[in-house]
Amino acid sequence: MKRIEIGTAVSEGAGVVKGWLRVGDMPDGRPMRIPVLIARGAAEGPTLWLHGAVHGNECCGVFVLHELVRTRDPRTLAGTVVALPILNITAFHRKQRMSPFEGFSGGDLNRCFPGRPDGTLTEQMAHHVYAGLRAHADYFIDLHTALTDDTRWALFAAAGGDVGSRAEGMARAFGFASTLPAPMDILAGSAMMTAARDGIPSLIVEAGGKGPAFTPALVAEVCERLRNVMRHLRLLPGAVTDHGSLTYFSSFAWVRASRGGLFQRAVRCGDRLEKGTVLGQYYTLWGDPDGEAVSPHPGIVLAIHPGPVMASGETLVHIGLDPRAA
Ligand SMILES: [Zn+2]
Repeated sequence: MKRIEIGTAVSEGAGVVKGWLRVGDMPDGRPMRIPVLIARGAAEGPTLWLHGAVHGNECCGVFVLHELVRTRDPRTLAGTVVALPILNITAFHRKQRMSPFEGFSGGDLNRCFPGRPDGTLTEQMAHHVYAGLRAHADYFIDLHTALTDDTRWALFAAAGGDVGSRAEGMARAFGFASTLPAPMDILAGSAMMTAARDGIPSLIVEAGGKGPAFTPALVAEVCERLRNVMRHLRLLPGAVTDHGSLTYFSSFAWVRASRGGLFQRAVRCGDRLEKGTVLGQYYTLWGDPDGEAVSPHPGIVLAIHPGPVMASGETLVHIGLDPRAA
């Protein structure tokens, strides 16, 4: 079998190997390194490459990837799963979105791909990860969260042609109802768009919220949906579950809070919005009702601020636009 080497994780046959990929140096000189899992079947097949915690406080996907590898006899695979469950390791240490050592740019790892060997810390991290992805991945899935535990949507790189249609096939096999065929001119520097431009069909899953805002049931569900994608790709044997019609969007809108205050949301992810639908209620520090936040667009709620503390400029709501059955 072809040798697959990702840092110290070296796979030459069926089974699971674990290791470390060095992505930089810590200030004290220790290596800055991230965990790598390679699960390989006895039969040849495609390589599915998976990322978790690209943003360090998005941990639902970490547990999903651990469960996906742990609960499977790798010999039943026809092909290979490469899982990097904690991509932004120093952000993860601090339970925050971006690395505490990123002092120059914004440091959003999912805007830095394919990275640069001589760039900022985060660009160098992206470079070390993307070299392996580019060399080995036939398909790519990136696991994120939004703000609250009811977040459930996905987006695939609508690259057109075979790459786009194979990405759409993954999205349908994953089967979250809210799905965006993402136009190729958005999310520049994301691993998904970068991989798609390199011919690798790519999907982002948004499941659960920041920090502890996810449940074991959601982890199990996302894991099973990933197994269904693997059956669709013939990485796993068995019949593919048909999730039926999905709701597609033309694009999305981020809506920022125009004011601050104590805030209680009134909608959940997946709810349908009209222009003017009440999103939540503001209160003063003395407990008096102090106005409502309303939706500026019709659409579907992809993410909503959890409250209870809102500053102006925070993400109030993320709306999927022009929903249609597809
Ligand atoms: Zn994220």
